Amino acid sequence: MENFDLHNHSTSSDGLLSPTELIELASRTGADAIALTDHDTTTGLAEAAEAARAAGIGFVPGVEVSVTWGETVLHVVGLQIDPESAELRQGLDSIRAGRLGRAKRIGDALAKLGFEKTFDAALALAKDERMLSRTHFARHLVERGAVRDIQAAFDKYLAKGKPAYVSHRWAELENAVRWIRASGGTAVLAHPGRYDLKPMMREEMLKQFKALGGAAIEVVTGSHRPEQYALWQREALEHGFLASRGADYHGPGESPCEPGRLAPLHGSLTPVWSTWAH
Ligand code: AMP
Ligand code: MN
Ligand code: MN
Ligand code: MN
Repeated sequence: MENFDLHNHSTSSDGLLSPTELIELASRTGADAIALTDHDTTTGLAEAAEAARAAGIGFVPGVEVSVTWGETVLHVVGLQIDPESAELRQGLDSIRAGRLGRAKRIGDALAKLGFEKTFDAALALAKDERMLSRTHFARHLVERGAVRDIQAAFDKYLAKGKPAYVSHRWAELENAVRWIRASGGTAVLAHPGRYDLKPMMREEMLKQFKALGGAAIEVVTGSHRPEQYALWQREALEHGFLASRGADYHGPGESPCEPGRLAPLHGSLTPVWSTWAH
């Protein structure tokens, strides 16, 4: 199997490495091709494409779109997108616009818990106010000694159901898939094992995603525990999805797996990249 890694972040969203540093890391780990899939933004793609040319590895332009599906936040990765597509740009723009207001509310919630001025501190760690994510708040909470690590920041304060969680409406699933496809991209359901859905909802999610034009699901990802791979491999085969593979890398010390170092996809699966001309 070729070593494609199709889900990674940079400083353009909530990663710690610049697009160039990410690509250079992926070329050292032996990836044949890598996708940059920042949250709701494509601003890092030009730099990453240039770095990939220089490093001599394949590059897949991507994005990870935030979606609200009923009570659940889903992430849909778009691969082989055209960042110049007007429909995609407008869609992503509308999502980013919502991040600032949400971040202010997260800051207010943290202030009530006794952590003052987290909004400004998180903003200092982010690219700009429209890219503020919970990850930036989590990093700041670690920095100021409120928690031991990022995971603890989510577990104690920022995850759904915790006191600084602020619910927010992201894009509709239907729109996210439409924007990705309108830009010539392939829609991939990111880390389906992270949503904590009961079997009936899981089936419903997969059916709807397929009906809307979703082409693939992530099976092997740094956001699944290895013991989850078999379930999502089965689901991909059962629902007729192509399979994707990606580290969901955010940076040194923050991710279980470096880009290009995941297990291969099982031979029974059809890799999403096998449908692309390259
Ligand atoms: P946001 O889009 O601002 O809600 O932030 C979502 C990001 O937060 C995800 O892409 C992850 O990088 C990170 N994240 C979410 N949940 C967790 C968690 N339980 N532990 C660590 N990171 C998390
Ligand atoms: Mn993230
Ligand atoms: Mn995600
Ligand atoms: Mn991600």
